[in-house]
Amino acid sequence: MPIFSNRTLDLKRIKAIGFDMDYTIVRYHSEQSEQMTYKEVLKKLVLQKGYPKAIENLKFDYKRAIKGLVIDRKNGNLLKLSLYGKIKMAFHGTKPLEYKAQLKTYQGMYVDLNDPNYEVVDTSFSIAYGVLFAQLVDIKDSKKTIKLPAYEVMESDILEMVDLSHRDGSLKRKIAENIEKYIIQDPECVQVLERLRSDGKILMLITNSDFYYTKLLMEHTINPFLKKYKHWTELFNFTITSSSKPRFFTDKLSFLKVDPKTGLMSNFDGKLTEGVYQGGSAKNLQTALGLTGEDILYLGDHIYGDIVTLKKACNWRTALVIEELDKEIECIKKSQKTQEILDFMMEEKSKLEDALDEINLKTKIEKKDKEQIGQLITKIETLNARVSAHIQKFKKYFNPHWGEIMRAGNEESRYAGQVEKYACIYMAKISDFSQYSSKRYFRPVKRLLPHEV
Ligand code: IMP
Ligand code: MG
Repeated sequence: MPIFSNRTLDLKRIKAIGFDMDYTIVRYHSEQSEQMTYKEVLKKLVLQKGYPKAIENLKFDYKRAIKGLVIDRKNGNLLKLSLYGKIKMAFHGTKPLEYKAQLKTYQGMYVDLNDPNYEVVDTSFSIAYGVLFAQLVDIKDSKKTIKLPAYEVMESDILEMVDLSHRDGSLKRKIAENIEKYIIQDPECVQVLERLRSDGKILMLITNSDFYYTKLLMEHTINPFLKKYKHWTELFNFTITSSSKPRFFTDKLSFLKVDPKTGLMSNFDGKLTEGVYQGGSAKNLQTALGLTGEDILYLGDHIYGDIVTLKKACNWRTALVIEELDKEIECIKKSQKTQEILDFMMEEKSKLEDALDEINLKTKIEKKDKEQIGQLITKIETLNARVSAHIQKFKKYFNPHWGEIMRAGNEESRYAGQVEKYACIYMAKISDFSQYSSKRYFRPVKRLLPHEV
């Protein structure tokens, strides 16, 4: 799969490359992993938050949420926004929210994501959260026998239990017990990393995972495929675990030195040399490297924590890994015929609208004109119904409920807007670099403005 470019990026000029670990270097079987999170969170909601045991019978439906959705905590809705923050699709729980109901709640307003009533599903780790919120909203609405708190309370309870499941080790323990089930091994990714290193790039692993979990995943995904190095800690010049991104990019926290053999940590305040660390900051790392932001490329999967904050705070070059991209591109190819039919119908509609406009421009509308207007409106309405049916058909090629991740109708989705603005390049997976040399010049394609089409 190709690597896509939003900005020119000269790989030859990049001297150091930083990598996030989870969902970037290490790929997950996301559906299995989110199903496990979902079950763990349900269990914790019952045990720790006193939710009725009956909720444990819920079935995980992975397709109910996609990356980029916005959760309206107060109203129990899930929203898909355009690049400009306009609501393009809405569900109340798992039920489509009709346009009239949508208008009543939001008055056609643009959603302001600074409002604390909105939360974003923005990582692969948050799909279970979105799915569970939608399903609990349904239960609250329909099953009066199962008592649940207000929508916004449910939302914060779910989020708290997801957070706890990550922090108390319950998810990581399950992954360790059955690593093949949750983690993908990608030998091509290791070849890419070894090639970048032998081409003179400084490699850095910068992850929010702690040292022990990092060790577990890296030993499983990197060590077996190394050809030039014996151990993943040798492949990376710098390894930084528990990095507390996005604060790693904005604050100046201290580094701790980690002994890779024992995992034991010690205080550290000297000049940073190659090795394994915990915590720290991008600014101190950059000073130690003696490089400018333009010389460093960072690759991550979290649009906010890895990309947006970094771009704003450090001005490093950025690359986003979007695991859904392979599938989205495959679906674009499969849906091409339906898209062509839709384009054709929209052209027809446009012609009818032109004809309608021509009559409406007349200074005097005769009886004959009125008849023609009636006929044209009927034709447009018939066409509208066919267009709607085809849009539904088109959407089914992608997520059956939400359609594409990168588009919201004819506009870019909010997620795609962030990708375009903050990610210099983007790709489905690190191994996509295998097609490109370390001297590659990535150049964006010219995008057409409405008046240039
Ligand atoms: P990274 O992507 O390599 O920076 O690491 C992601 C780490 O964050 C993993 O260890 C996840 O388990 C952890 N993580 C993901 N979501 C949450 C959360 O909501 N709370 C706490 N930790 C999380
Ligand atoms: Mg990650």
